[in-house]
Amino acid sequence: MTERSLASVGERVFNFSPGPAVLPLEVLEQAQEELVSLPGVGMSVLEISHRSPAFDRILEETLAGLKGLLGIGADHEVIFLQGGASLQFSMVPMNLLRGQQAAADYILTGTWGVTGAKEARREGAVHVAWDCAATNYDRLPGPDEIRLSKDPAYVHVTSNETIQGVQWKHEPMVGGAPLVCDCSSDFLSRPIDVAKYGLIYACAQKNAGIAGVTAVIIRKDLLERSRDTLPTMLDYRTHVTNGSRPNTPPVFAVYILGLVCRWVRDTMGGLESMARHNAAKAKILYDILDSSAGFYAGHARPDCRSDMNVTFRLPNEGLEKEFVTAAAQRGLIDLKGHRSVGGIRASIYNAMPLEGVAALRDFMIDFQKTRQA
Ligand SMILES: *Cc1c(COP(=O)(O)O)cnc(C)c1O
Repeated sequence: MTERSLASVGERVFNFSPGPAVLPLEVLEQAQEELVSLPGVGMSVLEISHRSPAFDRILEETLAGLKGLLGIGADHEVIFLQGGASLQFSMVPMNLLRGQQAAADYILTGTWGVTGAKEARREGAVHVAWDCAATNYDRLPGPDEIRLSKDPAYVHVTSNETIQGVQWKHEPMVGGAPLVCDCSSDFLSRPIDVAKYGLIYACAQKNAGIAGVTAVIIRKDLLERSRDTLPTMLDYRTHVTNGSRPNTPPVFAVYILGLVCRWVRDTMGGLESMARHNAAKAKILYDILDSSAGFYAGHARPDCRSDMNVTFRLPNEGLEKEFVTAAAQRGLIDLKGHRSVGGIRASIYNAMPLEGVAALRDFMIDFQKTRQA
């Protein structure tokens, strides 16, 4: 695949949706090209058996793509599940907490972490090791603010809080406890040192593809915690033993994930380069916030800012509504913030091109000039 300009597809807008989100044009075009007939197969990927050699190859390539990008070694298994990241809010504690004496610790830096902790409480003891509710999740804890329980079953974090726009820059220190991370909204946006994690999960529809598939990366020793009384399909071991195919997997979503992995590797130059690209895009917008004399007020504190979701307020709600409407007229779509934060959220995942961010920057400068007078 070679890089293509969005301008070459005239009717496409710049899509700042938090998810499902913008996909690389090259991926959409390859899927389109192969949709009616996969090369050498003569059928659509939508029509083939999930046990066919053609799908064997797609699954293998997708797995190899992910493992190659993330440098996943022999200590971890990779499985593809359905039910979204939300099902992992339940499956993680069902498999890792159920029947344990210890508590699971949750570090709450935003809405998704809070939701995960709520589900975990159905399965066992949950200890909140830090909670930023008092300032509406605008920052990360300092190392001395995290209060872990004694020998927690695991420690759960959310690497990027999609709604608040708060992103961890490096892993918190959690002693010997397995670190469990919801990476849904920054998966494949930067390198991860997988060896530091007990379990990583991510739905695909933010950075890595389309809704329907969720990647779970689990350290092999943790599989021993799952109990035989678990429902078969909710037991991680079922999916590991059956190579992500105990039943029909979401074949199209797996296929697209594979294409996205290839795009990140071949077109974008791998995760280090992807991360630099994403940081450069985010800086363009944060520089506008910082030079706006308070007209655009960032939600996240500067040292916790997300490279994926840029969240900010305007002086009043009337102006925020006008901003969203006027931006849409310029082909800058889906900029309304989540109701729990308000204001504006620009989601600028992997596939948002630099020219989309530059167009938003120019719009923001113009908007401030005309509305501030
Ligand atoms: C989108 C998102 C989820 C929810 O994902 P679903 O696939 O809709 O269940 C969970 N966590 C984070 C961080 C997200 O961004």
